Amino acid sequence: MKDDTTIVHAGRKPFDNHGIVNPPVYHASTVLFPTVEAWEQARERRDQPGTIVYGRRGTPTTFALQDAMAELEGADHCLAVPSGLAAITAPLLAFLDPGDHMLMVDAVYYPARRFADTLLARMGVETTFYDPAIGAGIAGLIRQNTRVVYLEAPGSQTFEMQDIPAIAEVARKAGAVTMMDNTWATPLYFKPLDFGVDISIMAATKYIVGHSDAMLGLVSARDEHFARVRESAWTLGMAVGPDDCYLGQRGLRTLSARLARHQESAMKLAEWFEARPEVDRVLYPALPSNPGHEIWKRDFEGASGLFGVVLRDASRDAVAAMLNGYRYFGMGGSWGGYESLVLPTQPERLRSATTWDAPGPTLRYHAGLEDADDLIADLEAGFERLGAAREAGE
Ligand SMILES: *Cc1c(COP(=O)(O)O)cnc(C)c1O
Repeated sequence: MKDDTTIVHAGRKPFDNHGIVNPPVYHASTVLFPTVEAWEQARERRDQPGTIVYGRRGTPTTFALQDAMAELEGADHCLAVPSGLAAITAPLLAFLDPGDHMLMVDAVYYPARRFADTLLARMGVETTFYDPAIGAGIAGLIRQNTRVVYLEAPGSQTFEMQDIPAIAEVARKAGAVTMMDNTWATPLYFKPLDFGVDISIMAATKYIVGHSDAMLGLVSARDEHFARVRESAWTLGMAVGPDDCYLGQRGLRTLSARLARHQESAMKLAEWFEARPEVDRVLYPALPSNPGHEIWKRDFEGASGLFGVVLRDASRDAVAAMLNGYRYFGMGGSWGGYESLVLPTQPERLRSATTWDAPGPTLRYHAGLEDADDLIADLEAGFERLGAAREAGE
């Protein structure tokens, strides 16, 4: 089965539910058992995926999403958790003990860095941040007690690629567990497990849900790592509401069609930005000019709708004039919905192992599903405001 077919059919069992196409939404805490024997049986099997014993451990709504995602990831299992950040913290807590060492990519999603610097540090876990471009050179940072190597590619603000198979191989030889935040590509465009990564992390809030209306995380792994992740998430009390699981599985059905369009528009916008005199460079691995392009082409099946733009010198006020007047680009965190977004970012503040060298402000754009020419007209008007504000300021 090809991926496009998997996302339509996996995890669905219409004839278990009157032939209705989508899985029912089960609202549940208590689950009743008719006899002591039935209760004892359920208790015996409660750690097996698919067992319904209490609302917190999932219902058929949860399982429909998890099963579909596991299939798409090429994983044995997937676990739904309440947010993308929970999909990061649960596996980290599963594998790190006091005295352990972790290697984390310097371009990492900021809340993951904060988790390492605060809670994990308090627990006695030491983190070393590494250059995204390190590749097999990561061997030089591995210590005797390195337990986890954490990857994210491309980074969601600066979009550096990583040589994932090279890093995964070094980690495997050293006996460390690899985890990758794959939110940008989704398993349609990159499957971490196929490239030697042990645990695949998704902020499903973004492209899986796809409509900016739910928080959701998904963690996928093979049997050897999954049980520990689930144990950690369950011990922490992570449970997802049924409506959010439902929205996740519904979003998944159209992921391929949406991503193709996000990609097409992002490419158009990225090329347009690249030709503008106001722009220093565009941060999008699908562009041949991008330093990560060769790795992207080698390993990824596509690019999503999120990219960065580094402006040549521009004042805060001029950038504000440009952004405040956009008609279609909303300003706000998160991304992966149908709408276009923009956000001023400050990558220089979020790194420790490397420095972010840019002549001017960095912006992050999400190409939504609007008409790309309308978007470009909006961006063009924005540069006119930038130019006018610049002249007024001189
Ligand atoms: C948004 C995001 C997360 C966190 O997801 P939430 O659902 O917002 O907690 C993690 N990683 C990346 C790359 C993200 O963009």
